[in-house]
Amino acid sequence: MTGLLVEKDPNAENAPVEDPRETLVGRAAAFGVRLEAAAAAAMLSYLDLLLAKNEQINLTAVRDRAEAVERHLLDSLAFGLHAAGTARPRVLVDLGSGGGFPGVPIAIAWPDCEVHLVDSTRKKIDAVRDLAGAAGIPNLAFHWGRGEELGRGGGPLAARADTVVARAVGTLAEIVRASCGLLAPGGHLVAWKSEVADAERAAGLQSAAAARMESLPDIEYELDRRRRLVRYRRLR
Ligand code: SAH
Repeated sequence: MTGLLVEKDPNAENAPVEDPRETLVGRAAAFGVRLEAAAAAAMLSYLDLLLAKNEQINLTAVRDRAEAVERHLLDSLAFGLHAAGTARPRVLVDLGSGGGFPGVPIAIAWPDCEVHLVDSTRKKIDAVRDLAGAAGIPNLAFHWGRGEELGRGGGPLAARADTVVARAVGTLAEIVRASCGLLAPGGHLVAWKSEVADAERAAGLQSAAAARMESLPDIEYELDRRRRLVRYRRLR
């Protein structure tokens, strides 16, 4: 479609060709994320592998590549807005990673962070392990299970994470309950949300208080629509 428009342009020869890697690098910068071209390329190759795999197993409802860049890659990189105000993440858990968001783009953009993808659906975690292996992303680990179990005392991820991220996983109260055992003291929980009703907000706060967590201010941003990161911190 864009190609046709460019051909009709009398200055077509001088019209810049939009490289999706450059678009990604430029748009990520708006979230405070400095992305190398190679990192942008790795994200796009992961996305293409995912969209191909999506023909066999349902990993995302988004079928269009440009839309997937926006709704999966860039939305994941909104993590930069939170990271700008905290210590560098070292051990991060993506609770309910599904097709790998936001954990996979975060692993690529923060290569010295150990990123653990957690999902209770085995076929999803298996598929994403294969895709990430094919895309060559070294700093990822994969866990089939529920956050509540993996973070229980003696569990493999108990109190390990300085950061837990979760997108489209459930209500705030559910996310808090599933993630509190995974968080090290002082660790942050970052939940991707659009609108949050007052009742959900209140229930989230109640669960947080029970789990010895405090609420931090939301961070709002715009993509296809207005979105927000709802944040908590586990007390020390
Ligand atoms: N975060 C992804 C996927 C969202 S779908 C994205 O934004 O695209 C939600 C996923 O969370 C599902 O794959 C489901 O299996 C998983 N899930 C829900 N509750 C969970 C829990 N308590 N522990 C681990 N995984 C969970």
